[in-house]
Amino acid sequence: MTEPSGGPAGGAFAEAAPPLDAGPTEADWTAAVAAVRDLPADGRVLLICHVNPDGDALGSMLGFGLGLRRLGVRRMQATFPGPPEVPEPFQELPGLDLLVPATEAYPDPDLVICFDAASGSRLGELVDRLETARAALVLDHHASNTHFGRINLVDPHAAATSVVAEGLLGRLGIELDAGIAECLYVALSTDTGSFRFEATTPAVHELAARLLATGIRPGDISRRVFDTRPFGAVRLFGEVLGRARLEPAVAAGHGLVWTYATQDDLARHDQRPYVLEPLIDSVRCTAEADVSCVVKETTTGDWAVSMRSKGAVDVSRVAVALGGGGHRFAAGFTGSGTLDEVVGRIRAELDGALTGAGRH
Ligand code: AMP
Ligand code: MN
Ligand code: MN
Repeated sequence: MTEPSGGPAGGAFAEAAPPLDAGPTEADWTAAVAAVRDLPADGRVLLICHVNPDGDALGSMLGFGLGLRRLGVRRMQATFPGPPEVPEPFQELPGLDLLVPATEAYPDPDLVICFDAASGSRLGELVDRLETARAALVLDHHASNTHFGRINLVDPHAAATSVVAEGLLGRLGIELDAGIAECLYVALSTDTGSFRFEATTPAVHELAARLLATGIRPGDISRRVFDTRPFGAVRLFGEVLGRARLEPAVAAGHGLVWTYATQDDLARHDQRPYVLEPLIDSVRCTAEADVSCVVKETTTGDWAVSMRSKGAVDVSRVAVALGGGGHRFAAGFTGSGTLDEVVGRIRAELDGALTGAGRH
């Protein structure tokens, strides 16, 4: 996957309505800077990220929040929809003191900023703030982003939302400190799979270098975020991996490997749902399949599906067709019904999906 190293050509000859995947225009950046600079002295800022927040959602949101604090913003909350539970790997992130439960979020903030959500549907009960806030800014990197803010900084070529967040911090003249850097580093390293995925451009490593130069400790951070889990989760993983199934004929012969975890599995091992998130990484290494899935029961009859591809299949198309979203190599959706029904829908979409050289 080759991508231009700079932004898309624009300037005086830019189209009036550039294609959605062109990334933010200078006018977008200027509007975003103005939205922050025009805040009244006691303005209330609400930061939101997507439901079941991951490292990029929390890291870009909290890192940006710490930056705004440096700028002098005092009245600020960070939140996400659903129960106010931060997954264990992220419980030492700087800036967690900004977090409030969704039920306590400002109903009509002066500025709402939304991180790492491709559409309003990922914001649950908080989606109304896009309307009730005086200004609404969206920072994201999903190609499927619906541009649901009034100002949208959406760069599908960015490896993580934290890349966009750092771009805006820079334009606001906010210097990186170790707290901001740790948040942005967690976001960048989680969304690039520890700098292994295709999106790991020279610019990603340059950003990582700037973050590390603040003195943060990558070994400690990685151990906490990637390499620590309760013994119960280790045993649960063994069970769930032991029932993985390989279907080589699916997706026009590119192959599917999948497994599932139920609420009962979690209960038997006394584990919280977020411990299942890294499971997909152990499934997707299967050599014989291009596509991998983990199907996770959230409530009875509802399933959150994680999908990954090695490149032959664009899993974001499959996810979008099934009501979700994501990227070419990593996507997801939520589905209802029995396990067999949900997996049957995935199989059917994979068999119909365009394979080969699709857009990225
Ligand atoms: P995950 O498998 O949860 O790590 O998600 C992989 C990618 O798919 C991320 O970019 C998510 O934003 C996206 N994604 C996951 N679940 C959904 C969903 N229900 N709706 C939209 N996008 C999703
Ligand atoms: Mn995310
Ligand atoms: Mn992301």
